[in-house]
Amino acid sequence: MIYHVVTTPDCNLCCEYCCGKAFDEPEPEMEFETVPKEPNYKITELAKFLSKDASDVSIIFYGGEPLLNIPFIKKLMDSKQIQTGVKNFLIQTNGTLLDKLSKDYVNKFHTILVSIDGGKTITNKNRGEGTYEKVISNLGLIKKNGFGGEVIARMAVEEPTEFYEDVLDLVNNKEFAFTSIHWQLDANMWHDYAKRNFVDWSRKYNEDITKLADFFVKEAKKGNLLRLYPFIGILNTILFGEVYQLRCGSGIGNFTILPNGKIAACPIMQGIKEKYLGEIKITNPSDLPNKLTVNEPCTTCEDFGLCGGRCLYSNHYPVWPKKGIEELCSTTKHLLREMERISPEIQKLLDNKTIKKKDLEFLKYNCAEIIP
Ligand code: SF4
Ligand code: SF4
Repeated sequence: MIYHVVTTPDCNLCCEYCCGKAFDEPEPEMEFETVPKEPNYKITELAKFLSKDASDVSIIFYGGEPLLNIPFIKKLMDSKQIQTGVKNFLIQTNGTLLDKLSKDYVNKFHTILVSIDGGKTITNKNRGEGTYEKVISNLGLIKKNGFGGEVIARMAVEEPTEFYEDVLDLVNNKEFAFTSIHWQLDANMWHDYAKRNFVDWSRKYNEDITKLADFFVKEAKKGNLLRLYPFIGILNTILFGEVYQLRCGSGIGNFTILPNGKIAACPIMQGIKEKYLGEIKITNPSDLPNKLTVNEPCTTCEDFGLCGGRCLYSNHYPVWPKKGIEELCSTTKHLLREMERISPEIQKLLDNKTIKKKDLEFLKYNCAEIIP
């Protein structure tokens, strides 16, 4: 299974859709506890818990910003007991501190997911002046230092983003051309529906998905399979029958270990006591899956099999009105239909060996949630 290990709840940025909104928008009703600033459990306790997991274990360092606690990351990666039980280390980072972790550690990562929203203008608008430049410079540095794993750009998408142009800005970036990209819609996470114009923006977003699907096929015909995670995740099911429940894996094959040793289904559920699933000192990993799963409207949706339910957190704590949630689901349904539309063409390219099956494969639940 995959475990997000939260190294600290703190962050060094204040992005528009994250801490920016946390100050403006009320939280959904829930019993919330503050988690410690750094892990207060022993590494040996974590290693013992992980050693009971019979499947391949991967760790994703997560925050806040995980690189604010480099000593813990190093201690964990240096631990012989952890090394014995953990197959892959991944990290989800805002990328601004990547130069602070030495290459001996960076080069051990299987995957680095880095937050970037497109080109310089949109990234700096969302994440603060100078962020884009720092992230691109750090990615250049790790490449120069020999990092050979996958770098996935993680875009947070909301109005007024020009979605298609922003994705192409990443693909065509002259300083660091991204070949792996995931995007997540900032939707149904805050009480902000009434302030936004999601319905109009989502019409344009759907048109952009169609344009991007056509671009994806055009590139695939040249033998260049872009790893656009929402596309390749769904195509895996359509083409190869890869079975998923919730595609991000939260509560199924993907769990979050909080700094106090408590276990949550998803990183966003840090501090939500009523949804905790266990604790590393006493819980067996085999007891975790399927304790918390998505409910209505997903379970009776005709697209549940292919969609999987989008987001466990917002399914349990919906903050948008029904109308807004339906508009959001219409974007998911459009994406599913577009993948069904292009799948015969992709199958042909697989059959004539223009692209390979392995180009579409990835580590399941690698922190790219698939359904945006
Ligand atoms: S499309 Fe919407 S309602 Fe249907 S499964 Fe996905 S998130 Fe749930
Ligand atoms: S999609 Fe939702 S449930 Fe899944 S990891 Fe993201 S916030 Fe958590």
